[in-house]
Amino acid sequence: MSDLRVAVVGGGIGGLVLALALREHGISFQVYEQADELREIGAAVALSANGTRELRRLGLGDQLEAISVVPSALVIRRWDTGEIIADHPIGRDGAYEARFGAPYFGVHRVALLQALSQRLSGERLRLGHRCVGLEEGSSGVEVYFANGASSTADVVVGADGVHSVIRPHVVGEVRGRFSGTVGYRGLVPVEDLPSLPDPTPLQFWAGPGRHLLHYAIDGGRTVNFLAVVRVPEWTNSAWMEACAVSDAVDAFAGWHPAVTEMVGATDIGSRWALHDLAPLPRWHSDRVVLVGDAAHTMVPHQGQGANQTIEDSVAVADCLADAPASGDLRSALSRYEKRRRKRTVVVQWLSRRTADLMHLPDGPQIAHRDSQFAALYSELAWIHSYDAHAAQPAALGAA
Ligand SMILES: Cc1cc2nc3c(=O)[nH]c(=O)nc-3n(C[C@H](O)[C@H](O)[C@H](O)COP(=O)(O)OP(=O)(O)OC[C@H]3O[C@@H](n4cnc5c(N)ncnc54)[C@H](O)[C@@H]3O)c2cc1C
Repeated sequence: MSDLRVAVVGGGIGGLVLALALREHGISFQVYEQADELREIGAAVALSANGTRELRRLGLGDQLEAISVVPSALVIRRWDTGEIIADHPIGRDGAYEARFGAPYFGVHRVALLQALSQRLSGERLRLGHRCVGLEEGSSGVEVYFANGASSTADVVVGADGVHSVIRPHVVGEVRGRFSGTVGYRGLVPVEDLPSLPDPTPLQFWAGPGRHLLHYAIDGGRTVNFLAVVRVPEWTNSAWMEACAVSDAVDAFAGWHPAVTEMVGATDIGSRWALHDLAPLPRWHSDRVVLVGDAAHTMVPHQGQGANQTIEDSVAVADCLADAPASGDLRSALSRYEKRRRKRTVVVQWLSRRTADLMHLPDGPQIAHRDSQFAALYSELAWIHSYDAHAAQPAALGAA
């Protein structure tokens, strides 16, 4: 049993997984979440084997399976004809789990957060606590909240997402990088999509300057989509702005009817400017450390932001497990950063590159691109086969 006291700022996927991992190690913790209830902007999230392996280890296997849908396959289609460029089985014949050692799931974000907090039994989760600052001293950290409360801990973990208030304490002010793409997200009942050739795979439609990704959730009754459009610039200081559904439909004019039908079937209401972070110079101070989007926000085109966040949370809990409160915490935090940094930097880069490949104009480069899509499982094995407990930096790049 450790004598360490950890304050986790942020009760999203990263903060809640971290809480469960700390509990496994017998480390005392408190999670502080700004919202009054657990909810998430956005609809669903795709969890790959590198994430679900850890959620299973934390005892969430059955619950997660009950609320998730396993896509039949990962399919990539051409934007206009719908011709299949690549088809990699996921649920079909149990192929994905047999290859990567854990399942692939599509799940509603709220259902996932609720499952995590139920597993935690609501224990040590303080809602309505928006962190507004902290003071780090040689013997501990004082954390301050907008409601006037404060708390003392040996270590503070910033799991507070892309607009982290903890990050400036570690690295100063950092601005997000606009990726040159905007995203439209929506949920559509499957019965409203008569042109969709098959609603069961996780499916990309790739074409010049755009792509559409969708997969089923809610027992297969609903399709979650993210439609991505390349734009020359983003001038709004906010990362989200109101839009009309016709903006998305117009952006996909001339695409396969399944695509235009999907983006036109729901009242989208807003578009998101997709940003990431340039790799940070460091992830921690003596007693304050970052996980998840606070450390390495990435664009969503590899479906890895949440999965990398889960890996981070497991890794930081492992590294803190043998660190006594009065001992050398900085070394434990450095071990964590060393274990995680290189891997997440490459996944950030790969996430951007995926959109570049998806968005190639028709022409001579397409044949080479399509052969890369056909070899996707071998190319991505180092991400999906990864075991965050056993992981060493050397695992990177090993297919
Ligand atoms: C369009 C889109 C689609 C995506 N799809 C996928 C996908 O399919 N698969 C995947 O792996 N990833 C996906 N991602 C990425 C994924 O959503 C994030 O990487 C993941 O949510 C990061 O988790 P987090 O816990 O670090 O941050 P968050 O999920 O942002 O959670 C941060 C939490 O901290 C709280 N908080 C913030 N500030 C404070 C404060 N001051 N005090 C207290 N609490 C605070 C917030 O309320 C929130 O609950 C997608 C992202 C986008 C934008």
